[in-house]
Amino acid sequence: MTFKFERKGSCLICGNCCKVLKIKIKYRVTGDVVKYLETRGVRVKRGGKYTILTIDYPCPYLLPTGKCKLKGMEDRPLICDESPVRKWQLVDGCGYRFEEVKY
Ligand code: SF4
Ligand code: SF4
Repeated sequence: MTFKFERKGSCLICGNCCKVLKIKIKYRVTGDVVKYLETRGVRVKRGGKYTILTIDYPCPYLLPTGKCKLKGMEDRPLICDESPVRKWQLVDGCGYRFEEVKY
């Protein structure tokens, strides 16, 4: 049996995902690297073989209403239309969730 995660829910246009940068690294950072990142204000979450970094860094195109100034424009990255596509990309307050589905 195969398991997959399917995205459910919808965008609440809260803008929370535009206030942070989340980056997944495919190895586990340790020791002084963690200390350095946390000293620099980066939130570090570690799994067995990966690390997720969260940096408070609001996008300059985020409007105070939570809407995107580039909505509908060619300059807007495709990632902004498609995210979140993985569970680790979810941020607090997001209207999406990922549910496990058996195949
Ligand atoms: S370009 Fe728009 S959707 Fe993309 S991160 Fe910035 S504000 Fe958010
Ligand atoms: S955090 Fe989720 S609900 Fe809020 S704008 Fe981003 S994708 Fe939409």
